[in-house]
Amino acid sequence: MERGRFRTTFAFLGFFALGAGAACAEEGAHWSYSGPNGPGNWGALSEDYEACAAGSQQSPVDIAGTIEAELPALAFDWKSGPGAIVNNGHSIQVNLSAGSRLARGDASYELLQFHFHAPSEHLVGGEAFPMEAHFVHRDAVTGALGVVGVFLVPGEENASFAALAKAFPAQAGAEAKLEAVDPRGLLPDKRDYWTYEGSLTTPPCSEIVDWMVMAEPVEVAEADIAKFTALYEGNARPVLAANRRFILGPAVAPTPQVVDVVLTRAGRSKPAVIKQLRAAAGLSVREAMALVGDAPKVIGSRLERPKAEELKKRLEWAGASVELR
Ligand SMILES: [Zn+2]
Repeated sequence: MERGRFRTTFAFLGFFALGAGAACAEEGAHWSYSGPNGPGNWGALSEDYEACAAGSQQSPVDIAGTIEAELPALAFDWKSGPGAIVNNGHSIQVNLSAGSRLARGDASYELLQFHFHAPSEHLVGGEAFPMEAHFVHRDAVTGALGVVGVFLVPGEENASFAALAKAFPAQAGAEAKLEAVDPRGLLPDKRDYWTYEGSLTTPPCSEIVDWMVMAEPVEVAEADIAKFTALYEGNARPVLAANRRFILGPAVAPTPQVVDVVLTRAGRSKPAVIKQLRAAAGLSVREAMALVGDAPKVIGSRLERPKAEELKKRLEWAGASVELR
């Protein structure tokens, strides 16, 4: 299948960026997650990064409007082994020794490294997760990358993640040896996943990635998430358009749109507005009076749109002016 003209040109560069480990300064033009070198400008920072701006199969994406399909099972054959944990200036990355593999249908990949993003790069139905791990595999035959995404959420401590969190090197460029890394501990029990054809989510944004995003998140201790966000908060590229791509996998329930309800003017009959606020928003007399006396003010934050419309209608009956934002 035609995968876009960037595939061939950038496969080579992608290989080096992924293999480079700590050597952030040697990866090419300096890029970051904010400011003038942020994601919106990556494509202009270097000719090598052209795909970041001009590509049409970029990652991450919002996983929505999926097509339910019978997908080949993911056959994980990951192993515990020695590795190195690296602060590469953009994330914490764990480089693994050879021997861990993933098979899917006819494709067979070797696990090279994994690293983390906070918040998640992929969204599901418009919603982000606190973290996302990326397990980067390469198909030795085709050169394509197979990246497995796993969402991490706060909950019970995860021994694998806790061990890594203890070893996160604080300084960019720092690296530490790990006697044993067991990536299996970071896989969810259920193996349902979404799949689509995309790109690296960092420059050079090469369109050489078969994405497999696990549908079930994995719980890790909130304190361990905090150890990561103390070093990297916001190392997530914003989502890009799916364009003509299909995202195959489990159905995603559409998340209701949420809005703020803003009371801009209380209206002539304040008692009527106060009564409506008490009835529709469940406020005490004191709370309702305080809001009415201090318009404009947000009186309902992040309400689902139908509920917000109802509140707006009731307050307008009582003579108030209300906006949904
Ligand atoms: Zn990543």
